[in-house]
Amino acid sequence: MVNEADRSRLRDLAATAAEHAYAPYSRFRVGAALLLDNGAVVTGCNVENCSYRLTSCAEQVAVARAVAEHGPTIRLRAVAVANLNSAASAPCGACRQTLAEFGDDATLILYPGEGGAAMETTLGELLPSAFRAAFLETGTKSSRPEQDVCQVPPRSRADPGATKKR
Ligand SMILES: [Zn+2]
Repeated sequence: MVNEADRSRLRDLAATAAEHAYAPYSRFRVGAALLLDNGAVVTGCNVENCSYRLTSCAEQVAVARAVAEHGPTIRLRAVAVANLNSAASAPCGACRQTLAEFGDDATLILYPGEGGAAMETTLGELLPSAFRAAFLETGTKSSRPEQDVCQVPPRSRADPGATKKR
């Protein structure tokens, strides 16, 4: 359970993190604050790239930082997102899947709505029927053996350089 004081603190920490955003292209400065199961809070901000498509969202930066600082078993109790543009910014689709890797349907999501209104929902509401790691195990067990093999070219077509005399 995340009480009101903690929710407010997470929103504030996300806004503070947004001040470090590297967003020279969009000028959309976003911050995220994760409350982990162990009680720790980890923040992140968006980091853009001149190629555009290599931009990292604040939530993804925060998740990567949380794993680096607290290890691979982290679980997300709550996630707050904020921006310095007085705009609505719910987590994007890619971030929802990123959060689903370490959260569950009950993970609390705090984000700004229209006009900066303090909105809250759950990860399950934002991303129903998320793709889960458990699906990989199910898929591996049910697939036929020949489907487990990748479509590798025949060996006779191996690199001709390998038979070249030196
Ligand atoms: Zn995103």
